[in-house]
Amino acid sequence: MPDPASPEVSMETLVALCKRRGFIFPSSEIYGGINGFFDFGPLGAELKKNIRDCWWDDMVRRRDDIVGIETSIIMHPKVWEASGHVAGFTDPLVDCKVSKQRYRADQLFFAQVVVDGQVVGYVSALESERTAEELQEAAESLKRKKAIQGKLAPVEPRDMTEAKPEEIALIPSPATGEPGSLTPPRSFNMMFQTNVGAMSDASSVAYLRPETAQGMFADFKAVVDTGRVKLPFGIAQIGRSFRNEITPRNFIFRSREFEQMEMEYFIHEDADWEKCHRGWIDWCRDWLVSIGLPLSHISEYNHPREKLAFYSRGTTDIMFRYPFGVQELWGIAARGNYDLMQHEKHSGVPQAIFDEASRKKIVPHVIEPAVGVDRIFLAVLCAGYAEEDVKDEKGGVEKRTVLRLSPRIAPVKVAVFPLLKNKPELVVRAQELHGRLKKRYAVFYDESGAIGRRYRRQDEIGTPWCVTIDFDTIEKDGTFTLRERDSMQQKRIGEAELFALLEEKVF
Ligand code: ATP
Repeated sequence: MPDPASPEVSMETLVALCKRRGFIFPSSEIYGGINGFFDFGPLGAELKKNIRDCWWDDMVRRRDDIVGIETSIIMHPKVWEASGHVAGFTDPLVDCKVSKQRYRADQLFFAQVVVDGQVVGYVSALESERTAEELQEAAESLKRKKAIQGKLAPVEPRDMTEAKPEEIALIPSPATGEPGSLTPPRSFNMMFQTNVGAMSDASSVAYLRPETAQGMFADFKAVVDTGRVKLPFGIAQIGRSFRNEITPRNFIFRSREFEQMEMEYFIHEDADWEKCHRGWIDWCRDWLVSIGLPLSHISEYNHPREKLAFYSRGTTDIMFRYPFGVQELWGIAARGNYDLMQHEKHSGVPQAIFDEASRKKIVPHVIEPAVGVDRIFLAVLCAGYAEEDVKDEKGGVEKRTVLRLSPRIAPVKVAVFPLLKNKPELVVRAQELHGRLKKRYAVFYDESGAIGRRYRRQDEIGTPWCVTIDFDTIEKDGTFTLRERDSMQQKRIGEAELFALLEEKVF
């Protein structure tokens, strides 16, 4: 069960803002939408691109030891046999035979209702930050309904993967409230299947990739053979991944089509993998801070040894405090050389490389930081959203909604306003400045409505700066008013100073 939620902003508020301002829409909404798929509107597409670009610049372009690639979404189906996804990329699924609802067994909780030491029934609830309370309330209500006297014991929640066979028929379905309709958990493979070519038989089955990582392993030798890399080095990629999640939820946090940014960092088999692993955890955390996520919302979770795959040496997740609880944002795994060895076995192509430093042929080990763009997108919105009481133009109090996005990722960097739209000299000057700025940055020109309203519109989409061209700009020294989003402070600056500010803050 997730930890208690962050109180700052509700998901309803965020979803409404995303729709109202064109960040995110449900996919194919005119047909009623399709669960687990989303579209990114004009501002969302910009924000997402900025997150990707920042990662690519910092992870690939600004480093000498990492190269970037782009591999195909549909790969040879043997890739997924070698990686273990065909056999093991499953989630436990429970069906409700009456409502036809499907649940992930590890997200469906139940508890015995115990009165005076006797089990008098079962209750169930879906995973949320209130699961335990909901089960307790349901237990109290069951006791009342059955008019049982005696002392109710505190409930002990378990998930459906822990249910004994004889308990399954006694646990009520969350959809109907009645027992008897839930099936025992069974494995459900989350890969989307398709067929390649005109024949749709078993020989043409292929999969939409459930992760981008296998592209880096499958192309490992091809990258090494192009000769630009020597250990330790990384191969990075950004791209779409697809998982047929049983219960997509929490908006874009868990969807069926999403985007990953993954990097495989190859190291010598004798290298200090723990130090390297720690180094990448720190790098990832610092990077999140560099795009504006507050440290106060970030924590680490070390997967317990007994729950790791047999080949895994250690996995640490960087967790983020979302409104629905503390959840995984970025996984950093030390995977030994399992993946390359698997591909060597299944393809018959040796994956060992000659390491100059040790004069040995080795199959390198790997550290893998893997993150979802959509989860970062949601995190920056959650952390950046604020509602504040501010003074309006007449001295009264009004509410402003502000998205405190880092200038690095804000969809619009600067909004340019002429003070009045019916003064051609102001409009021309503002449009000229807008034209020069947009050669380098995403900027927005707005001449409609009172200046205060124009500021509010930009605050709500996270624009860090607004500039207003007024009569002093034309009649005096060419300076204009720069208004800063978070402090709302204003000062006069010139064009060279504005470009210098952008150069420093937008990188
Ligand atoms: P979870 O346990 O939340 O399902 P995972 O451990 O299966 O995630 P990985 O396979 O490690 O996730 O994938 C790497 C990253 O990809 C995750 O840390 C997350 O940021 C992102 N990701 C995974 N599944 C989804 C999804 N369904 N929707 C959006 N992002 C996802």
